[in-house]
This record gives sequence, C-alpha cells and structure tokens, in this order.
Amino acid sequence: MAPTQKKDYYGALGVKPTATADEIRKAFRKMARKYHPDVNPNDKKSEEKFKEISEANDVLSDEKKRKVFDQFGFYSDNIDPAAAEAAARGGGMSGGFGEDRYSAGSRGGQEVPFDFGGFDFSGFQGGREQGRPTDAGGGFGGSFKDIFSGMFSGGGGRSRGAQPGTDLEYQVNVDFWTLIRGGVTRLEITRQEMCPTCKGKSTSGGSVECPECNGTGQVTQMGGRMKFNIQCPRCGGSGKVQNACATCNGAGVVTKREPLEFRIKPGTRDGQRIRLAGKGNAGTDGGSAGDLFLIIKGGTNALFTRQGDDVYVTVPVTVSEAALGAKIDVPTVDTHDGGPKTQLKIPPGTQTGQKLRLREKGVPSATRDGMRGDQIVEVRIVVPKVQDERSKEILRELATLNPEDPRHSLFGTV
Ligand SMILES: [Zn+2]
Ligand SMILES: [Zn+2]
Repeated sequence: MAPTQKKDYYGALGVKPTATADEIRKAFRKMARKYHPDVNPNDKKSEEKFKEISEANDVLSDEKKRKVFDQFGFYSDNIDPAAAEAAARGGGMSGGFGEDRYSAGSRGGQEVPFDFGGFDFSGFQGGREQGRPTDAGGGFGGSFKDIFSGMFSGGGGRSRGAQPGTDLEYQVNVDFWTLIRGGVTRLEITRQEMCPTCKGKSTSGGSVECPECNGTGQVTQMGGRMKFNIQCPRCGGSGKVQNACATCNGAGVVTKREPLEFRIKPGTRDGQRIRLAGKGNAGTDGGSAGDLFLIIKGGTNALFTRQGDDVYVTVPVTVSEAALGAKIDVPTVDTHDGGPKTQLKIPPGTQTGQKLRLREKGVPSATRDGMRGDQIVEVRIVVPKVQDERSKEILRELATLNPEDPRHSLFGTV
C-alpha cells in the first residue's frame, strides 16, 4: 500500500513547522490579502489557494487542532487531542521533529493502520448540508465531515438490519353481482415471502473471509487528497462476513406465487381500494411486511348500471300506461336473488325519458350500515305498431280530440 498522503499546512502558509502562533497569524494575513476572492473576482486559482490557506490557518491557529495535525499529518474534529498526545507520548505513530513528523501514521515506510472505527459517525448524517464548504472566507469547518460522509454513504454499513417489506398492488376483476351481494374472490399473487431457510436473516450461520478487505478488517479510502485506512464497512473490522443463505442468495426473502382468497363486502364499489395489512412483501431480518392493496375493477350488467350505491335501469311503458297512468312491475337488484318484484307507479301523462325514483331499492352501502341506495327508473315509451284498421281509426280519432301541436314551442324560440 502507498504511504498515506499528507497535508502540508505549514508549506501552504510558507512557515516553518516550528513557527510560533504569531508567525502563523501574520503569514495567513499576508496571504489572505493577496488571495482573497474580493481582490481576485472569478479567479479559480486564487479561490483554491485561499481555501487552502484558510484551511491551514484554521488548523494551525488552534493549539489543539495543531497538535492533532502535528501528530497525524491531518486534522479531524473527531480525533481527540488528548488521544493524539497520548499516542505521541507512547511513541506510537511518530516522534521527534524530524521529517517523519508529518507523515500521518507512517513509521519507517510501513503504514500503521489508522482505525476510525471507534469514532462516532452518527453526526455525519446531516453533515452533508451543514458541512459543505462555504465560499472562500467561510472557513473549512465542515470539510472533513464532507469527506467522511462521502466515505460512508456508499459503504453499505455494517449490517443491513431490519428492512420493511414493500407494498403490493393488484387489480382484481369482480363481477357485478358479487360486488353488490358480497362474496369471496380468489386470485394469484406473486409476493416476496420470508425465506424459509434463514427465516429472513439472509445468512446461513457460518462465516467466510470478508471479500471487501480480504479478511484484514481494514480498507483504504481516499478522502480528498488524503488516504486513510479505515475499518472495513462491510465486515465492521472483523474480517469475516456471514455466509449468504443459499436458498435466497442472501436476500432474506424468496419470490412465491400464491393463491389468495378474500372476502368482498356487500356494496363494494368499482375502483375501491382494499388494504390487506401485512399481505405485501415480507421484510428481512425481522422487518415488518408491506401491505397488499387490491383495486377493485367492477363488472357491468346488461340491465342495471351502478353509480355509487344507486342503480339505473330503463323500463319500457306503453302509450296508454304513460298517458293514463299505471302500476307496473320493475326489476331491481333484489329480483336477481329471487326477491319480490317491485311495483312502480307511473303517473298519468308521463313522458319518455322521465326518471322515477324507487327509494332504498339500490345497492346496500358497504360503509353505512343498514343504508341502501335508490333505484332510478328511466321511462321509455313504446309506440304500438298498429296493423289493423280499427286501431288506426282510434288513433285518428284521438288526434282529432287532442289537436295540440307538440312542436309549437320549437317555432316560438327559433
Ligand atoms: Zn434465506
Ligand atoms: Zn471486511
């Protein structure tokens, strides 16, 4: 492995590693005046330089940060200065004022893995937003957080943990009468079920060498211009990973096609969404299952048309029934089940297309107990096809007795 790349903060400010705090401050001021973005608008090079010296100043002007930097050759908010000192005293990573002083964790050309495993990275979740390097002059307080969040966001974590299953949605065709009367509908669904072998754990129990770090427990990551050895995110530094379950290939779930039977409530409507809790895809490692949503596609009927809980039907009547009034039998949804015929009163002088309402003869409500919709009957007057002379004579006589012109009003409005 290549030696860890180090930051040269002293070089950036043009001071010696032995520089006093005052010397560092003066050097930064002098350079900041030269490279400040206000003095060099739209100059990328100056901007970069200004960021570099700001970062260097940020670390070197702080006694504690400088100690960490001197010890490791880079600085992170997550390195405890006390630990850095202890490491220095213990003669661990580097020592003296020699050339080696800034070669982060490098000793005699041999890299000493620097283990970040003990640090708490939980704070980096929001670090992307807050920690984004601001414009020149804004300092670089968050730059390391950026580096780390970048490192760990794609790392996959040490354990997937419990993952909830996803929801499923199916369209179900249900015939007209089953929706009205209720019943049982069957369909086949394809869903992910908990793996019967590993019970959703994804592993078979045994462990193998981690393929990510080849069993070393450490991986090398680039963070900007720096290179770190960090704890392997795949195995958490143990160097071993669990054997993937052979049945589900480590997915924790297996895809299965299974029959499903469910009850349709009387009065269920076309387009209704039925939720079957926990019948969606299974979760893994103890995660809860998703839900199954059934979208009802209702069938049609040649005679009846449904609109919500109301039922529409067109009923033919004779000219005499319409003119004189009558009581007629009409079919309702109850008739389909062998129920009694319903009598409808046709008022005298009923016109074709007129709508008559039969209260509570519609569909029983699925949501409001004991309630029913109405049946709306549209009247269609059937004109007799008269053949015989006597009937024609009667109609001619009728016309003479009722001379009103039904088209009269048409001409009045033209
Ligand atoms: Zn399995
Ligand atoms: Zn590993």
